[in-house]
Amino acid sequence: MIHSSLEAPSAPVVHRYEFASDNTAGICPEAWAALAEANQAFVPSYGTDSWTQRACDLIRREFEKPDAEIFFVFNGTAANSLVLASLCQSYHSVICHEIAHVETDECGAPEFFSNGTKILTGSGRDGKLTAAEVERLILKRTDVHYPKPRVVSLTQSTESGTVYKPEEIAAITAVARRHGLSTQMDGARFANAFAALRETKSHLSPADVTWRVGVDALCFGGTKNGMNTTEAVVFFNPDLAREFEYRCKQAGQLSSKMRLQSSQWVGMLESGAWLQNAKHANAMAKLLAHELQRIPTIGLAREPEANAVFATMPAEIAEAMAARGWHFYNFIGAQGYRLMCSWATRAEPIHAFVSALTDIVERSSARAEKRDGRP
Ligand SMILES: *Cc1c(COP(=O)(O)O)cnc(C)c1O
Repeated sequence: MIHSSLEAPSAPVVHRYEFASDNTAGICPEAWAALAEANQAFVPSYGTDSWTQRACDLIRREFEKPDAEIFFVFNGTAANSLVLASLCQSYHSVICHEIAHVETDECGAPEFFSNGTKILTGSGRDGKLTAAEVERLILKRTDVHYPKPRVVSLTQSTESGTVYKPEEIAAITAVARRHGLSTQMDGARFANAFAALRETKSHLSPADVTWRVGVDALCFGGTKNGMNTTEAVVFFNPDLAREFEYRCKQAGQLSSKMRLQSSQWVGMLESGAWLQNAKHANAMAKLLAHELQRIPTIGLAREPEANAVFATMPAEIAEAMAARGWHFYNFIGAQGYRLMCSWATRAEPIHAFVSALTDIVERSSARAEKRDGRP
């Protein structure tokens, strides 16, 4: 084996998933406690219970939008796909970034649930679309032979770990609106994005980074932020939510024991854990990035803005880390390796990861020196 000399002598392999994704972590205490409480009694099913009512009211309050319509689904793929399908006819198209989850990681679900709506991809630095790129895609073809652009989909935070600033969102949604398009936000990591934005501008509210800058519908991620199988679909414009409950049911996304989704939101929103968890995950990503920068030959693709760290390293170093049990992804389109932090990330695995990596890098350079005949 090429990297045998990079392995620690006779170290037993312990598989570690801390940095593989933010969904390798479990359920956080606040969501768990709410689940335990909601598990006590007999309550009405299919979302007609008081937990679900409370969760919807709390989300409306958090977003300062009393008329918002809210639905709970099991996962992000369904949230995105069903929202896009409800905003589009089959002859429409959805504009998103070329590395957007809806394009690369949903197995064609948005096209499937919309009966053929086409995804049009654009490019842009750091996983972000720009207003100019969106307008270019809208105007590229305006004839009847081409699927008509109907929705812009923005991922917040992005697949590159970056965060759209409110003014960037406003510029994009202004172009979209001018041409008759709606804007959907894939917020699987919305909490992380919001926590990051709040760090620079403490007066920002969730409303300031969504509907006040033109976002029509948000897929508000719960699972990656410490809940279990729940994402909230938030229609800021209630007209767009028409008959959405039928779409959820038909897609197999209407939970009969909905309180076991919605109660988690109550626990997270009432305690503030939704924001605390995201802040923690972001802080852990900063710490990890900081520690990695001390290791020669390891680079950062960019400074982390939310809870993802993109590190660059030689493939043989990454392979040696994998041989020692550290799981993480070589991320398509984002140069390098993705290391995710979550609500549950502690400092200990960061230090263990960094120390394993330091050891491998030292062994690798010692081996190179020996090969090159240097002392
Ligand atoms: C994880 C994720 C989703 C949701 O994925 P599911 O596995 O369907 O829950 C959606 N968008 C982004 C950007 C994600 O990272």
